[in-house]
Amino acid sequence: MGQAPKREHNLHIFGGFTMADDIDAEHGLCILTHSRTIQGSWTSIRPRGRDGCQWWMLAAHDAREEFTGDLYTAATDLAEVSPAPLPQLIAATDPANVQRWQLRDRKPLKQWSQGRVTLAGDAAHPTSPYAAYGADMAAEDGYFIGRTGMVPSS
Ligand SMILES: Cc1cc2nc3c(=O)[nH]c(=O)nc-3n(C[C@H](O)[C@H](O)[C@H](O)COP(=O)(O)OP(=O)(O)OC[C@H]3O[C@@H](n4cnc5c(N)ncnc54)[C@H](O)[C@@H]3O)c2cc1C
Repeated sequence: MGQAPKREHNLHIFGGFTMADDIDAEHGLCILTHSRTIQGSWTSIRPRGRDGCQWWMLAAHDAREEFTGDLYTAATDLAEVSPAPLPQLIAATDPANVQRWQLRDRKPLKQWSQGRVTLAGDAAHPTSPYAAYGADMAAEDGYFIGRTGMVPSS
């Protein structure tokens, strides 16, 4: 990506997952909820044929400040006012399965392709790592590159 500066969004996310099967969370859904300052989301997952749920809590955080809190506690506190089953999903999550990341991105490159070579995905347009931006756009890039017919068949 060259030297394009990182753009901090001053947001951070706590995310985790649980395979608990005693929580009333309908499978096949992705639910996003908001208060004025916090976004809480969850969606069903099915790794290796087992049903579970993953969740995220998003809130403001000054990127210049180091976060020193406990991830699980912070997520639990953020979900306090979230509707069910979000607090229950977090409560059922193993604290070892909670992670935190900051949101930042870079401006997309103006030129992605030269001759028969093209960049795709994050290499061309690194978006904020959240809410189905980056992975979806990388998959779209692949789709459209495939549609050009320029990909060798074998
Ligand atoms: C914590 C986190 C959460 C995210 N959440 C979401 C989300 O909820 N929704 C969403 O859509 N996106 C999300 N993203 C963003 C998403 O993961 C990326 O946008 C997506 O993976 C980009 O795909 P890519 O193929 O361009 O790059 P990558 O997935 O990074 O793939 C690049 C590959 O190239 C390999 N590589 C690098 N250098 C070399 C080399 N010199 N030689 C050979 N191989 C090399 C790497 O090992 C890697 O496997 C998240 C990202 C992070 C980090």
